[in-house]
Amino acid sequence: MPDQVFWNPILETLPRGKLQKLQFLKFKRIFKWTYDNSKFHRTLYKSHGIEPCDIRSLNDIKKIPKIEKSMMRDIQNKDPFPYGDALCVPIEEVSTFRQTSGTTGQPVYQPDTWQDWEWWSECWAYILWAQGYRPKDKVFLPFGYNIFVAFWAGHYAAEKLGCEVIPGGVLDTKARILKIKELSASAMMATPTYILSMADVAKNKLGIDPSQLSINKITCAGEPGAGIPGTKKRMEDAFGAKVYDHSGATETGAWSFECSDQPHGMHVNEAMFLVEIEDIETGKIIERPGKKGKMIITALDRIAQPCIRFDSKDIIEWAPEACSCGRTFRLIKGGVQGRADDITKVKGVLLSPIAIEEVVRSIKGLGDEFEIIVDKKGDTDRIQLKVELLPNVTKHQINEKLKDQLRLKTNLGYLIEYYDHGTLPRYEVKAKHFKDLRKHK
Ligand SMILES: [Zn+2]
Repeated sequence: MPDQVFWNPILETLPRGKLQKLQFLKFKRIFKWTYDNSKFHRTLYKSHGIEPCDIRSLNDIKKIPKIEKSMMRDIQNKDPFPYGDALCVPIEEVSTFRQTSGTTGQPVYQPDTWQDWEWWSECWAYILWAQGYRPKDKVFLPFGYNIFVAFWAGHYAAEKLGCEVIPGGVLDTKARILKIKELSASAMMATPTYILSMADVAKNKLGIDPSQLSINKITCAGEPGAGIPGTKKRMEDAFGAKVYDHSGATETGAWSFECSDQPHGMHVNEAMFLVEIEDIETGKIIERPGKKGKMIITALDRIAQPCIRFDSKDIIEWAPEACSCGRTFRLIKGGVQGRADDITKVKGVLLSPIAIEEVVRSIKGLGDEFEIIVDKKGDTDRIQLKVELLPNVTKHQINEKLKDQLRLKTNLGYLIEYYDHGTLPRYEVKAKHFKDLRKHK
C-alpha cells in the first residue's frame, strides 16, 4: 500500500467521460436528497420552478439557483436550533458543530453527521496521499483545535493513512518548534502566514535554522500563499521542505489539492465535488481554460447541511493541460487566485491583492510582511504599499526594482513606504494585508 501512487487508483484515473457520468449521478442523488429533506432548499427551487426530475444532464445544473453565504446566515438561529431549516437530518444525528471563521458578518454554522465527518476525512486522505504522506510520517498540527474547521479533517485523514499525528493545539509557537525538533516530525499543516511566522520565531527567537528541522513537506490552506510562487519559495527555502497547496472551506469541504508533481495549480477532487466557474461579468459558466471566474461548487456527498451550487467567491481558472501525475481530475491554474470580494477597481484598473503579494515576496531584501491600503485623495484613487526592509538592506537597493515589478504585474503606481524589519503588524493565522478604505466612506 505505501508504494501505491494514488489514494483511490480507480476514481483518480477514471476516464473523463466516466468521471462526468459519476458526477451527474451523484449530483442527481444529492439534489433529490436536499429537495426532499431541506425546507429552505425546496422553497428556493420551487420558486424557480425546478424539481429533481428536471435535472436530466450536467447542462441542466446551470438552471439551479446558486446559494449565497448570506442566505445561509438568514436561515440560522431558527429551529432546529441553531441551524434552521436547511438541516436535512434529525438534529440528534448531528455529531459536530463548526462555524465559519470569516472576519466580516455573522458566522455561518455548519452541522455534520458522523457520515459527513468520515467524508471530510476521506476528502483529506486524497490530499495527503497525493502530497506524499505515508504511514511512516510524523505529522505535526500547529493550529488551535476549536470551533473552526481549520485542519481538523487533516488530523483525522493523517490518522486514517496510518501516520503518527502530533496535535500541537494550545502550545505557543516556540513550544511547537521545540516539539517538532524533539520528535523529528516530518510533515505539518498550517496557513502560509503561520508557516512564515514559525520560520521567523525559530530563527530569531530560538536560534534554530528551520531548514535543519526534520520537516520535509508542508500542506498549506486557509490562504492562497502556497499557490503564489514568491510566497511558496520563501516557505520552501525556510524549511528546506516541499510546500503543497490545498483549498477548502467550512461550507464546501476539502475540494482541491496540489499533487507531488507540483503542477503550478491544484486538482479539483472531481469524484467528490462538482466545480463550475462563473464569468463575473456575464454570469455564464466558463467551460474552457483561459478565463478567470468565481467558483460555484457542489459537494456531491455531504448530507446534513448540503452544499449545492454554493457561490464560494473564490477566483479560479481551468488550466490548459492535464497533470503529469496521471490523475484525470482537472487542474485549476495557480490555485485560488483571490476572492471576488477583494478584487477591486483602482483608477479603472482591476487590482487583485495577490498580484502585489507575488511581487513583494519575489524580491530579495524585503521582509515577509506588507500592507496595502487603497483610499482616495480628492477624487483620485491611491494605493499605499508598506513593506519591510531586511537588516542591512537599503531602500535604494530595492526601490526601482519594486516599482518596475509592480507596474509590470499590476499596471498601477504606488506610494511605497519602507519600514524596518519587524515593525509592521504580525498575524498569527490569516494575514490581513489588504484594506480598501473607499468602501467605508
Ligand atoms: Zn497531479
